[in-house]
Amino acid sequence: MKARIAVLPGDGIGPEVMPQALQALETIAKQFGHSFTFTHADVGGAAIDKTGRPLPDETLKLARESDAILLGAVGGYKWEGLAYDVRPERALLGLREQLGLFANLRPAKLYPMLADASTLKAEVITGTDLLVVRELTGGIYFGKPKGIEKTADGERGVNTEVYTTPEIVRIAKVAFEAARKRRKKVMSVDKANVLESSELWRRVVIGVAKDYPDVELSHLYVDNCAMQLIRNPRQFDVLVTTNLFGDILSDEAAMLTGSIGMLPSASIGSTVGMYEPIHGSAPDIAGKDLANPIATIASAAMMLSYSFNLDKEAAAIDRAILRVLEQGYRTKDIASSKTSPPERMVGTKEMGRLICQELGKA
Ligand code: NAD
Repeated sequence: MKARIAVLPGDGIGPEVMPQALQALETIAKQFGHSFTFTHADVGGAAIDKTGRPLPDETLKLARESDAILLGAVGGYKWEGLAYDVRPERALLGLREQLGLFANLRPAKLYPMLADASTLKAEVITGTDLLVVRELTGGIYFGKPKGIEKTADGERGVNTEVYTTPEIVRIAKVAFEAARKRRKKVMSVDKANVLESSELWRRVVIGVAKDYPDVELSHLYVDNCAMQLIRNPRQFDVLVTTNLFGDILSDEAAMLTGSIGMLPSASIGSTVGMYEPIHGSAPDIAGKDLANPIATIASAAMMLSYSFNLDKEAAAIDRAILRVLEQGYRTKDIASSKTSPPERMVGTKEMGRLICQELGKA
């Protein structure tokens, strides 16, 4: 197959981890006879430096005209003093809004050999393999009224949690479809004991479930879910939830697997999907060859699977990552004195090279 991929490396470690993912995609293309065209564009701070705006029109145009987008990360100390609407992070909201990317998919899978790198006990997290499906373009981050107003005795800050039936239906469908490719279990997370918007959420999800009789649906209140995630994460397959709850729970789920440097994500909804590691631009380690490229390489694998239906190719990347980890290679963020002999400690480029080497052997 032929695919045009928009490559947006962004800031900090973004431009370091991106080439590793592109190298893996090139290896896949050669092996499986595909043709991927990569077109680079600026986003975030890099774009601000050149154009004054975090999401220039040319970048958005490229994103719209591509078959998929691979993004590194945006942000950094240099741009922290700017107004919110011209900060690097604004580019992410812009891309999500403009491209209609209403569903964020974040798998959290523990690689068994990294159990010791997590802050949680190995016996609790072993076997964790879940997917958080977060609604991305609605809820309290976008609801109106919003703002801060003066009052007689100070100020009043307001945000509004709001969901409509179509918004809930479409995200629920994404979750049920994803569950069909996995262990066929959906846990819908809400706060229906307190919030009317959650009451509607639950009712609509139950309605959508009727079209998926092969998938088991359960419900949890978000506070209980936060607890269950660290008590027994193995009980979960697919979690589906609102923008705000998903923001928090997906970070909690990330910690189950040890390092933020391991986790990919997909944002889908329209014809073009966007794939990015869940981590930020990590300015503290940028330019030092310390960043773990696995989250970005795994994001490229998600792109192959979700945007191009190339499941075999995606699985080949996942297997190559697993094999390199099995051989004891670690970047600093996933090293643990118990599992990683010091001679196997590697930097960003070497980790990328090793994964490609494994891919080449397949
Ligand atoms: P961060 O994810 O950049 O870093 C958090 C910690 O994790 C740091 O100690 C960092 O060194 C480490 N880390 C992150 N990715 C790593 C990797 N691949 N390998 C090894 N270690 C890694 O989060 P932060 O420090 O809160 O934010 C830094 C900047 O990134 C900010 O400007 C923030 O707004 C931005 N940010 C961007 C995104 C995005 O582009 N999607 C997401 C989150 C934060």
